[in-house]
Amino acid sequence: MRGAVLYAPGDVRPETLDDPKIVEPTDAIISLSVTCICGSDLWPYRGANAIKQPVRMGHEYCGIVEEVGSAVKTVKKGQFVIGSFFASDNSCPHCHRGYQTSCQNKQAVNGAQAPLLRVPLADGTLVATHEVPSPDMIPHLLAVSDVLGTGWFAADAACVKPGATVVVVGDGAVGLLGVLSAKQMGAERIIAMSRHPTRQRLAREFGATDIVTERGDEGVARIKEMTNDVGADSVLECVGTQESMWQAIRATRPGGYVSYVGVPHGVELDGAQLFFTHVRLHGGPAPVRRYLPQLIDLVWTGQIEPGKVFDLTLPLEQVAEGYRAMDERRAIKTLLTT
Ligand SMILES: [Zn+2]
Repeated sequence: MRGAVLYAPGDVRPETLDDPKIVEPTDAIISLSVTCICGSDLWPYRGANAIKQPVRMGHEYCGIVEEVGSAVKTVKKGQFVIGSFFASDNSCPHCHRGYQTSCQNKQAVNGAQAPLLRVPLADGTLVATHEVPSPDMIPHLLAVSDVLGTGWFAADAACVKPGATVVVVGDGAVGLLGVLSAKQMGAERIIAMSRHPTRQRLAREFGATDIVTERGDEGVARIKEMTNDVGADSVLECVGTQESMWQAIRATRPGGYVSYVGVPHGVELDGAQLFFTHVRLHGGPAPVRRYLPQLIDLVWTGQIEPGKVFDLTLPLEQVAEGYRAMDERRAIKTLLTT
């Protein structure tokens, strides 16, 4: 099969690879008709982490079960399934409390930018739909696998409640779906911080009531001005930089909530400064598995269309252009056909 491999910063290519095989009896092999590129794939692509050896890319996936290992009990060949970027047993104490991305047996899933994928801990990780979805629904279900699940966690971790004033920092796919999630949770005012007209439009379509284009000190001042100098009840930090994190904390009212779901790069918080903000922080790798049944149902019943974040579709052979377009912010999120 062909699959995306990152060789060096800026150098991602389709490569001929061995088809994945069942390694552990708890594994499943699934076939993916479409796959996609994540905002977090841009960190290694931009050279944020050292690349010691070629790396298989992709961790967002949904598709048809082709084969299961001998110990797999609930997942069956022919089912359409959705999982997320960490495989989890869904039975340990952390999984029971809804933190499957801290599962005591968690395993990273990589190599999903390919037509076939091995998923460990299949019973705990994968959620099957009632029937095989129509092709036009598949991008929406693929979005559930990571970007919607992460945006949903951002809104949940920031305790978005009916009637709340919410700020979303970051206009990538996760931030935009954080807007959608806040809307679903009943937020009354949703302020999206974005400078890009196409992303502002999608934010409004997903439920944003206001757009703020300023950043840093000016962005915080603007939020304060819009909230009678109080600050927001809930702020979703969907970037992961020092500037975005402090912007989020300072835009929150005392007693309010900040969630952070962007993988932090160079974020350092000063204890004394944090102490006097009176904000509550909760974040981390989104436990998407917790939300999968609910989010699949919202898509299946046509209540949400998270796949609208895909604004570029390319064949897997053109994966390099898919990364470039996202890196240069020409595309919000690239869908790849296999
Ligand atoms: Zn677990």
